[in-house]
Amino acid sequence: SDYALEYPLSPAHMDWASHYPAFVDPDTSKVTLSGTRKLVKDVEVADIGCGFGGLLIGLAPVLPETLMVGLEIRNQVTAYVKDRVAALRNQQARLRAASFLASTPNPTTEETPLFENGKDQNQDLPEDAPALPDSKQTAKTLIPGGYQNISAIRANTMKFLPRFFAHHQLSKIFICFPDPHFKTRKHRQRIISSSLNAEYAFVLKPGGLLYTITDVEEYHYWVLRHFGVYNHDHHDKETTTNTTEMENAKVTEEDEEEDEDENSGVARVRELFERVSDEELAKDECVRVMREETEEGKKVARNNGPKFVAVFRRLPDPEWS
Ligand code: SAM
Repeated sequence: SDYALEYPLSPAHMDWASHYPAFVDPDTSKVTLSGTRKLVKDVEVADIGCGFGGLLIGLAPVLPETLMVGLEIRNQVTAYVKDRVAALRNQQARLRAASFLASTPNPTTEETPLFENGKDQNQDLPEDAPALPDSKQTAKTLIPGGYQNISAIRANTMKFLPRFFAHHQLSKIFICFPDPHFKTRKHRQRIISSSLNAEYAFVLKPGGLLYTITDVEEYHYWVLRHFGVYNHDHHDKETTTNTTEMENAKVTEEDEEEDEDENSGVARVRELFERVSDEELAKDECVRVMREETEEGKKVARNNGPKFVAVFRRLPDPEWS
C-alpha cells in the first residue's frame, strides 16, 4: 500500500542532493525549498517502474552527464537498486583511487555509504533479483560517470508525478515491460492510459522522448491506441505503416464501454505526441539498452519471447495548452 510513500510538496522541494552527491552545486547558498542543497543540473531521465535497475545501469555510461532516476513502487526493490548503485559507485571509486595511488602519495578515498543495509532491507526481495555487486571489490574498467548519475526513488508513479518533476523538466521517460494487468477490469491499473500519458506529456519537454517496450502483444496495441497512433475516428493521424499494427490498435467496443472518457482523452493526448520512426530508433543506443539490459528484456530473450517497441516524441504545446 501507499501509506509509507512520501511525496515532495513540489519539484522545488525535492531533495536530489542525497541521490547525486557528485552533482551538488558547490555554492552552499543554493538550497531547495526544503533546505537541501541544489544540484548543478536537473534530473532529465525517468525510468517508470524501474524494477532492479538494469536500464539505469545500462544507460549510466551511455549518458554519463545526464542525471537519471528510477521510480519503483516496491520498497525492497527500491532499496536494492540504491544498494546496487552504491556498490557500483564504490567499485568505481576504488579503481580511480588505485590509479591515483599509482601517481600520488596519500590519496583519500571516500566510500559512498550503502543507503540501507541491503541484507536487512532485502529480506523479501524477489528471488530473481541479480546478485548485488560486492562494494569492497575494485572495478575492472572505469565507466564514464562512475554511476554517479543514476539513483532510485520509491514512488507510485500513478500518483503525483508532477510533484517530482517540473513542467518540461524531462528529456526522456522509459516505461519498460510494464505489468500487463491482463483482465479488463484491471486495465485501470495500467501505467499507460490517456490521463497518465497527459501527465507524462506535462513533465516531458517538447522534443523529449517516451520509450515503451513490452512482450505482451495486446499491451503494445493498447500503448499505440493510448498515444493516439491509431484511432478509428482519425484515420489521417495514423503514424504506423504496419497494417497489422493498425488493425490491432483499433479501439474496440469493449474499450469504449470500459471507459468513455478514455477516447476523448486519447484525442487530446494524440496532439502531444508523434511516433518515432523505426529508422530513427535503429540508431538510438537507448533502444538497444532497453531491449537488452533491462532484467525483463533479458528474461524475455532467454525464453525467446517477442519484444514490441514504441517510442513517442513530445510535440510542441498546441495552442489550447
Ligand atoms: N522495468 C523493469 C524491467 O524492464 O526489467 C521492471 C519491469 S516489472 C515487470 C514492472 C515494475 O513496475 C515492477 O518492479 C513493479 O513493482 C513496478 N511498478 C508497477 N506499478 C508501479 C507504479 N504505479 N509505480 C511505480 N512502479 C510500479
